[in-house]
Amino acid sequence: MTKIYYESDADLSALDGQRVAVVGYGNQGRSWALNLRDSGLAVQVFTQADASRDQAVADGFTAHEIEAASESDVICTLIPDDVIPALPITPKPNALWVLASGYVAAFGRIDPDCDVGMVAPRMLGPEVRECYLEGVGFITALGIEKDSTGTALARTLAVGRALGGLRQGAIVMTPRQEAILDLAVEQVLAPAMGRVSGSFVALMAGAGIPLEAIMTELMLSGEIERSYRLLRREGYAGQMRYHSPTSQYGQMSRADRYDGLDVAAVMRELLSEIESGKFADEWDAECDAGYPNLQRLRAEKLGPEFVAFEKDLRARLGEQVARRVEGPAR
Ligand code: NDP
Repeated sequence: MTKIYYESDADLSALDGQRVAVVGYGNQGRSWALNLRDSGLAVQVFTQADASRDQAVADGFTAHEIEAASESDVICTLIPDDVIPALPITPKPNALWVLASGYVAAFGRIDPDCDVGMVAPRMLGPEVRECYLEGVGFITALGIEKDSTGTALARTLAVGRALGGLRQGAIVMTPRQEAILDLAVEQVLAPAMGRVSGSFVALMAGAGIPLEAIMTELMLSGEIERSYRLLRREGYAGQMRYHSPTSQYGQMSRADRYDGLDVAAVMRELLSEIESGKFADEWDAECDAGYPNLQRLRAEKLGPEFVAFEKDLRARLGEQVARRVEGPAR
């Protein structure tokens, strides 16, 4: 069985007297700084001198140049993964470097001369704060990449607990496992789901169904979103009772029709590019070149025509529906 840590496995006293640096004050950084401080840790913020530093000061933190984080005992880098390797931080040998994602450790982009732990929230940045305030916490992936002091696990667990990441449970994973899973969801699963949706739209449009109705089924009604919420809350078997008998019969009797379709072949190829580090090298080259392909892809796939189409559709359907559901000011 995979080990799962809970709050009872962590002791905040592992961080007694330790200065905790939150480096970066963006999506994750702000939530981390506020949660760790509210849990009683001695937090300082290290960020570039711009609007994010102003926000940190407005939130009551002392904010410093990033380089100065080198003096801290625990250094949490809440900075985009492609930027972390270039940070001007030289940690003390007995420091703990905490990552919010396994990426840079998994692909050898950093190898500092100190302990390295990972507390990776399975939650968007601002929600890390909301879930903490609501007292429900969130699931995390927690692991140790390097332990020179013998305290890496105790300190990483304490950070995870102070963040709110042990309330629901922290799944033990190595940074490499976390990075592979994370990248596979983005590069293997998401494109496959996009392809399935695209084929479905084309099929239905070809059958004469209005595009507005097809998009309503896929997105605008919120039905699929709510079905996934039921799946999370009640499981596959539990949520099935909310579907009509016709729907239940249709779904289950046709479930094996796609068995012969070998999506796994493409999936394996994509996974091997992640595992071998080929994607990480490609992404480094893309960053070094100033993101030319990312810009091209954004222009191709998220261009003005597509944005205008979605905006028009939402104005005529989705947004109106959402307002009615939420109880609008009329
Ligand atoms: P953001 O893009 O929100 O964070 C940006 C922060 O990094 C800002 O403080 C920004 O400073 C700083 N920054 C950006 N570029 C530089 C640079 N060149 N030099 C110095 N500082 C820089 O990132 P996230 O919070 O989304 O991600 C942080 C970490 O959390 C990553 O490791 C990510 O993988 C992980 N993570 C993110 C999740 C998410 O939902 N977003 C979920 C789980 C983990 P400034 O404002 O001054 O530009």
